[in-house]
Amino acid sequence: MVKVVIKNLSKSFGKFVAVDDLSLEVEQGKMTAFLGPSGCGKTTTLRLLAGLEAPSGGEIYFDDTLVNELPTEKRDVAMVFQFYAIYPDMSVYENIAFPLRMQKTPKEEVEKRVKEAAEKVRISHILGAKEMTITIGEKQRVALARAVVRNPKLYLFDEPLTNLDARLRGIMRTELRKLHLDLGQTSIYVTHDQLEAMTMADKIAVMNEGKLIQYDVPDVLFNKPRTIFTAGFIGTPPMNLLDCSLVEKNGGSYLDFGEFKIDSPEVSGKADLLTTELVAGIRPSDIEVEMGDSKAKGDLSAEAYSIEDLGDMQLVELKIGSAVVQALVPLDKSISPGDKLHAHVNSAKLHLFSRATGEAVQ
Ligand code: ATP
Repeated sequence: MVKVVIKNLSKSFGKFVAVDDLSLEVEQGKMTAFLGPSGCGKTTTLRLLAGLEAPSGGEIYFDDTLVNELPTEKRDVAMVFQFYAIYPDMSVYENIAFPLRMQKTPKEEVEKRVKEAAEKVRISHILGAKEMTITIGEKQRVALARAVVRNPKLYLFDEPLTNLDARLRGIMRTELRKLHLDLGQTSIYVTHDQLEAMTMADKIAVMNEGKLIQYDVPDVLFNKPRTIFTAGFIGTPPMNLLDCSLVEKNGGSYLDFGEFKIDSPEVSGKADLLTTELVAGIRPSDIEVEMGDSKAKGDLSAEAYSIEDLGDMQLVELKIGSAVVQALVPLDKSISPGDKLHAHVNSAKLHLFSRATGEAVQ
């Protein structure tokens, strides 16, 4: 079990900066996700940790040891990729045994460790099978067992579930999480899938354009995003983000969206916000929708634009003035496109950001 400390890590390819002054600590025994859109530098960071790339600047420590110069084979890390290289001419057993054979491990020990690893990832029943005869999910487990059998001090996962269908991905998410808890080893998991990160990781490093945007536990990223980027990236359906400004009048305050207003007593008295261009973040689940017109103060007149049945809820696109926002609505409300509705936004759940800096102002 190892603690990974990354200090001012950078990696450039020519003039292109793929990893930009990254600093964070990966706690020992925990699963940490690197999450961000394609091209944000997640895989490059993982490859730097594995020793497959050399940093352009900065330091990587495993516990107190600087590993910048340490070759991959001496780092004691195991990587599990989205494309699992399984040798087709070898049995599952031989595939798992392969890394131990390379280390010239004695035969009896190989046998013991292969069996243990196979049991941990639940493929004991196919140890004699060849690659051709096993399913894609089983292949992924073989790749996992080949990492587990080495008993590394750090696991690096690079989007290992990307090639699986949605159902299998769901199953493997749960199993990988269980396996991680069982092994208790430090793991880093790279993904662009926020659901994967949110459900599996103890802590998530949100990245964009090579930079660390926010590093926190899933609950904080969801409920207290520090930037517009995190707010828009975490959560499905994504948060609505709307330009607005703060207005104070007659001792009260409201957010002015142009064609509609939302009372916001929470930010009353914050004088500096009166001159800041703001972006309000509203989760679709924080908008309540009722049929017909409303006379209640603060309700917004809306029109249903499109409706998507999600199975347990419906995602309704609402037109409020010229703004289009998404709301999650229970299925028992029968809504059709063109219906007149009213929407209520709980201002206490609103997130406010500066448009200029992209950072939270509350
Ligand atoms: P993805 O999920 O698409 O792999 P990522 O966040 O893992 O995205 P990286 O693979 O780390 O992103 O790549 C970051 C950027 O660095 C990309 O723009 C990529 O084209 C560039 N890059 C990565 N490796 C090299 C390389 N060897 N030479 C030049 N550019 C590279």
